[in-house]
Order: sequence, then C-alpha cells, then structure tokens
Amino acid sequence: MTEIIDGDAVAQSIRDDLSTAIDQLDAEGIRPSLATVLMSDDPASETYVSMKQDDCAEVGIEAIDIEIDPDADGSELYDTIDDLNADGNVDGILVQMPVPDHVSDREVLRAIDPEKDVDGFHPENVGRLVAGDARYKPCTPHGIQKLIESAGVDTEGKEAVVVGRSDIVGKPMANLFIQKAPGGNATTTVCHSRTEDLAAKTREADVLVAAAGVPEMIDGDMIQEGATVIDVGINRVDADNEKGYELVGDVAYESAKERAGAITPVPGGVGPMTRAMLLYNTVKAAGLQHGVAVDL
Ligand code: NDP
Repeated sequence: MTEIIDGDAVAQSIRDDLSTAIDQLDAEGIRPSLATVLMSDDPASETYVSMKQDDCAEVGIEAIDIEIDPDADGSELYDTIDDLNADGNVDGILVQMPVPDHVSDREVLRAIDPEKDVDGFHPENVGRLVAGDARYKPCTPHGIQKLIESAGVDTEGKEAVVVGRSDIVGKPMANLFIQKAPGGNATTTVCHSRTEDLAAKTREADVLVAAAGVPEMIDGDMIQEGATVIDVGINRVDADNEKGYELVGDVAYESAKERAGAITPVPGGVGPMTRAMLLYNTVKAAGLQHGVAVDL
C-alpha cells in the first residue's frame, strides 16, 4: 500500500509543537514577530503574504505588514529593511520575492540582518547551512525533511535524487541530504535542465524530490518501486472547471502512486510545510534575538 504523506497533518503537528516554545517566550514577556515586506502588486505575491500573516496570527506570532509601492525607488525598500534590522521588536524579516526588476533581489537578501533572515537566503545563512551549522534551514527543504521523517523513512545511506537546482529549493535540499545529520547522510544526485537521461537518474532514487516547475514531468516509469516521492511543484494547468485551471505537481500523481512507497499530493503535501517552517524559523529567531533557549 502506498502511503500518502499528509502535509496538512504534519504541518499542524509542527504548529502544535511550536506552542511549547511560544509559551516559553511568553513567560519571558516576549511575543515573536515577523515583518513581511511586499513590494509588488502581483496577486499571487499578495496572496502568499496574506497567508503567511494568517498563519502567524493562528499560532500567536505578531505579523507586521509593510507594503511598498512597486514603482518606488529601491532605496525605500533598503531604508525599510534597515529600520526593521534595527528594531528590537522585530524578530524575523521576510521580503516577498520577486521584487521589481529595478531592485536587485541579491542585494535585498544581503541587506537583511542574517539573524532575522527567517527564509535562510542571506549568504551567511547559506554558508552556515553548507558548513553543517545551519541557523535557519530554508523553509521548503526543511519541511521536506520533516515529511520524509513523518513517513518513517531514514535517508541514511539511501540514494537521494533532487530534480532542480534553484537557490530556494534544489540546492538547499541537496545540501541537507548530504549533511552528517539526521535527515541527511544520503548519497545525493542533483539533476537540472542539462541532465542527460533524467529517467535513469530518477529511477535510482530511494528518495526523489521533484522541484522543476514542469507539470507532471515525472511519471511512474521514472520511479523506483517503493521510492519515497516528494512533489514540490505547483503548476497551473488549464482545466475544464469553474476556475478554468487546476494545480498539478511535477509528478504525474496517478502513475507515480502505483510505484511509490510513499508520496506527497499536490496540493496538501509540501506547500503547507513551507508555511509551517516559516513559523518555526520565526520562533527560533525570537529565541535568538532575546537570548531565550526555546525547545524546538
Ligand atoms: P526554478 O524555476 O527556480 O528552478 C527549477 C529548476 O528545475 C532549475 O534548476 C531547472 O534547471 C530545473 N528544471 C527545469 N526543467 C527541467 C527539466 N525538464 N528537467 C530537469 N530539470 C529541470 O523553480 P523553484 O525551485 O523555485 O520551484 C520549483 C517548483 O516548485 C515550482 O513549481 C514552484 O512553484 C514550486 N515551489 C513550491 C513550493 C512549495 O512550498 N510547495 C516552494 C517553492 C517552489 P536549470 O537550473 O538548468 O534551469
């Protein structure tokens, strides 16, 4: 029987567990806070930010909502980040990407105080992750580690294959898989658009993470019998329904389910975990800012 990994349920258990740490902070008079900065009028970005704010409210994290006119000068964004860096009441800072073309996303990520960089994208935090001394694990790959753990799968000594090498998913995922740590110790292959014979690589995988952004590109034939399959992709495809579209992953779910030992659905797999791990990082940030050792 293939196990369907329930991301909503695992995310809920992460949120429940966070309450212990939030209570510890509360006992010290501290309420964790996350500042979200949106410099975009893209409806998808607006939705992402409002979901993150709702998530914060649900667990007792203060959400500070900052919006900057996308036509404004980049200096307005940098000044805002400087103010948030200096503000002792702000524990985490998240700038919703993408920022407008006239602002450098790399420079924005560098401007955030690494101790408040709850996305884990500042070069200092990327370096710490690679060095095996992560301050904040990036939310999506960290959530994937939790999903794999929840399925009772030990990655040690296994073949892990990651399809995709983005800075936010593929690279940090591969880095976590090769760490000498629980959730790591896997022999890891990273595939991308230049990979030759992708199917030969994915068929080797005991644990397969698909993060390419290509609808249903990985089907059952590309999966080893019994593999753990984690589908990161969120792709809109035309559909004959009221909305005119539906969301599908990078994995062709029905055929993959026939071969996988465990598999995440889309939606309801990785997505809720990404959101939960942002809350986790924010609570961790609050502990770090205020010198309180929290149980996480
Ligand atoms: P990017 O577009 O930044 O990266 C995609 C990666 O996939 C690139 O490395 C690219 O290779 C590789 N790729 C593209 N096409 C192929 C192919 N045909 N064969 C092999 N590799 C290929 O995407 P992200 O990492 O940001 O996101 C990936 C997907 O995950 C998207 O659908 C996104 O919406 C989703 N996502 C979901 C999240 C969640 O919480 N569930 C969070 C973040 C992303 P190359 O480098 O050579 O171009």
